[in-house]
Amino acid sequence: MLNLVLFGPPGSGKGTQAAYLVDKYQLKHISTGDLLREEKAKGSELGLEAKRYMDAGKLVPDEVVIGMIGGVLDNNVGQVKGFIFDGFPRTVAQAEALDTLLTQKGTSITQLLALQVSEEELVKRILNRGLTSGRADDTNEETIRQRVSEYNNKTSLVAGHYDEQCKLTNIAGEGSIEEITTALCAAIDSQVA
Ligand code: AMP
Repeated sequence: MLNLVLFGPPGSGKGTQAAYLVDKYQLKHISTGDLLREEKAKGSELGLEAKRYMDAGKLVPDEVVIGMIGGVLDNNVGQVKGFIFDGFPRTVAQAEALDTLLTQKGTSITQLLALQVSEEELVKRILNRGLTSGRADDTNEETIRQRVSEYNNKTSLVAGHYDEQCKLTNIAGEGSIEEITTALCAAIDSQVA
């Protein structure tokens, strides 16, 4: 399987780029943010618990997210060529749990692609996205900075976890969408070759 982690702070373009990579490499896109928003919209118990954290720009507890991913992997391993994980793992505990789940299924993460974007550019992009995304957490600058701070304090360590496994590739995340897609594909193709 080809299992990619598309990694980077909120607003770094993970969702946009995932859409291209899913098509090109025929992978299943797993975005924990999308899954959590679906649960929120359904008003499920999980969704209601997650909402408190999401609206405050904080990470949802690991056990909630890991439990949700376990079910998605169970339903898809054996059916798909691989996965693009978008917005997951966001803590080292999530990365360790993901590695264990994939090992149990006889597979592993192939590569983590980390998009590099400055904080001021992130805030600008997210506020702009908030004009149309309908996401409460995209409209308030304080919440956006809280999300970036969660990334800096907890999520950025995940890159180190995969660097130790020689699976980290940094990609410049500022430039045109096409330039960034080209850089991502070159990195994936050279890893696969
Ligand atoms: P995203 O759409 O990836 O920006 O995620 C939106 C929000 O959902 C985040 O700010 C977190 O509150 C929550 N979330 C998404 N993925 C995770 C995750 N892997 N771990 C913890 N919280 C998450």
